[in-house]
Amino acid sequence: MLDALFKPRSVAIIGASNNPLSIGHIVMQNLLDHDFKGPIYPINPKSKFIKSFRAYTSVSEIPDEVDLVNISIKNTLVPYVLEDCGKKGVKFAIVHTAGFKEVGEEGLQLERQIVEIAHKYGMRIYGPNSQGIQNSDPAISVYANFTFVPMSPGNISIVAQSGGVGETLKLHLYRIGKGIRMYSSFGNEADVSMNEIIDYYGQDEETKVIMVHIETMKDPAGFLEVASRVTKKKPILALKTGKTSEGTKAVASHTGSLIEQETIADVIFKKSGVLRFHSQEDMIDAAIAFSNQPVPKGDRVVIVTNTGGPAIIAVDECISAGLKLAELSPKTITTLKKLVFQEAIVSNPVDVVATAGPEQYGGTVEALFKDPNIDSLLLVFVTAPFVDCEGIARKLGELGRTSKKPIVCQVMTIEKWQEVIRLIREGNIPVYDFAETAARALSAMTKYGTFTQKKEPVYKTFKVEKKKAGDILARQKGKDKFLPQDVVFELLQCYGIPAVKTVKVKKEEQLGNAAEKVGYPLVLKVDSEKIVHKTEVGGVAVNLKAKKELVSSFKKMARKFAKYKPGYILQEYMSEGQEVIMGAKSNQGLEPTLMFGLGGVFVEILKDVQFRLAPLSEEDVLEMIRSIKGYPILAGARGEKAVDVDKLAEILIRLSQLASDFPEISEMDLNPVFALAKGKGAVVVDARLRIVR
Ligand code: ADP
Ligand code: MG
Repeated sequence: MLDALFKPRSVAIIGASNNPLSIGHIVMQNLLDHDFKGPIYPINPKSKFIKSFRAYTSVSEIPDEVDLVNISIKNTLVPYVLEDCGKKGVKFAIVHTAGFKEVGEEGLQLERQIVEIAHKYGMRIYGPNSQGIQNSDPAISVYANFTFVPMSPGNISIVAQSGGVGETLKLHLYRIGKGIRMYSSFGNEADVSMNEIIDYYGQDEETKVIMVHIETMKDPAGFLEVASRVTKKKPILALKTGKTSEGTKAVASHTGSLIEQETIADVIFKKSGVLRFHSQEDMIDAAIAFSNQPVPKGDRVVIVTNTGGPAIIAVDECISAGLKLAELSPKTITTLKKLVFQEAIVSNPVDVVATAGPEQYGGTVEALFKDPNIDSLLLVFVTAPFVDCEGIARKLGELGRTSKKPIVCQVMTIEKWQEVIRLIREGNIPVYDFAETAARALSAMTKYGTFTQKKEPVYKTFKVEKKKAGDILARQKGKDKFLPQDVVFELLQCYGIPAVKTVKVKKEEQLGNAAEKVGYPLVLKVDSEKIVHKTEVGGVAVNLKAKKELVSSFKKMARKFAKYKPGYILQEYMSEGQEVIMGAKSNQGLEPTLMFGLGGVFVEILKDVQFRLAPLSEEDVLEMIRSIKGYPILAGARGEKAVDVDKLAEILIRLSQLASDFPEISEMDLNPVFALAKGKGAVVVDARLRIVR
């Protein structure tokens, strides 16, 4: 419970000072400027008064209870004052002071020490090296933060790992006259965590939308749990910057090397319904829309404009963001035709033309609200000097206030018509400078709308031979290594994942018998833990039609690979099917990441892969398969037969079950899996699996 942090009844400032350039001074000034509703107690052993407030030499002298202290004294002194705070019964200490974990081992020790002291007294540490918190709730109005953007009430709450990013977000909202609800930039996260703050915002009735900036996720599993709960109630918008540590590890499998370009954050966001943004601007534009507007019930948008070009841009951007252009109902078309001028275009986009006045533009929007075929509206409005622009804006504002469908708006104007923007914003319609921005904000809202309407996922588990698989892995334990093909195939078989007919050979004399078992045409491959990518070194010979060809290929490989003392395998040759890749990679403290995409030897070049966090529901997996760019190939493009997508989905779920059951499988890829025609299933042709113990 973070109430005493975000809703403190009293605040003491340790390090309060009359020097206007000190943190203590600034925090105190911020509390005063924002009319904090509780008492403020400056602590300074050297001054009697700070800003005409009586100063105390220590918190123990304060006659009343203290919920929160802000500390900005020298790092090595922090432990001492915390002892005082603990004895006094202080609940939270915001430590602004830097010089802890971020400066190395000594700082880390000091950081551990302050948390230990706090916990001894049941007190919590916020920070250290933190900016602080804010809560604009008029009943509290606490600005316990040393920054400068003025605070006013709103419904957007922000938690930013970087204070600089947090400040940028606040600043933008301030400039367009929008308030915030709560704000927090938590520093080193030694005790109070980002996840707890998100959870707290989630429970705050007045917070309608949450913006999060993350550099490193300290507790990914905790984030997943909290975010999954919160996104059911309100949207979480996230900006994740910086590379994950995964990127620096050496990886040998396809899954491993492809996954480093992705981040674990992405799969966590997808699983928990967090909306990811790649720029501060995009995130804040979407937050503004969420803050003002209801979430769309579907993806059908209508665009209304009084000028041509920008509407075309809006259409392009909406479509590329995954929205659909709504088809107007016949009733709406009849209504609009009576309403608008003759030269207007009544389709989607609706072009009311520049001469449209309040009756035409406003009336059109009103009619579109009533159309059941429409889920959201994007308005493009230029202040044409020959019409009553304020009249239009007033009408739009009125409509915006009562609308059950979300509206976003691009307004093109100059200072002279600032009233237009004000009137539209007053109607809760977000105003943007560009149609693209409006479209992207609407698309984010639509995505969230789709997410909230999704059914609870059902996770199916297949009956598998888990014990046998465990025994197989146990026999391989010891070193960190890739397992031989036949062992991997045996493991896959335990989980009902079909592999192509494969026979092991060691010597040339065994070729005849083995080939008979497999049948021609066949494939010869080298099999050694030292050779990870066989094609690259000439270790794969496909479509061998007769014994003579097989023997000559074998001789060549035997000569080439003699130094590895390898084994070989013969495999049935797959003459048709599409090559896909499936993979899994373990995550510490989390379920494994699964991968699916177009397969073959060029996967790293194509990079047409999707990642999801296990477990996978049937819906998740089908969505994952359909999300790759090459999906039309699987669905049967250009006269090719569609492949057995249902079977691919099943294999992926089985694979995810295998990876979840055995976290010692550090990375695995099945590449290629030959996806056969619908109803014919799919088979694994090559598999790589590494275990770590
Ligand atoms: P590696 O990935 O180690 O290079 P693979 O066993 O995946 O070796 O083989 C490389 C490529 O050879 C596959 O992507 C596929 O195009 C082809 N290939 C391999 N095995 C078969 C097979 N049994 N039937 C048909 N083609 C195969
Ligand atoms: Mg391969």
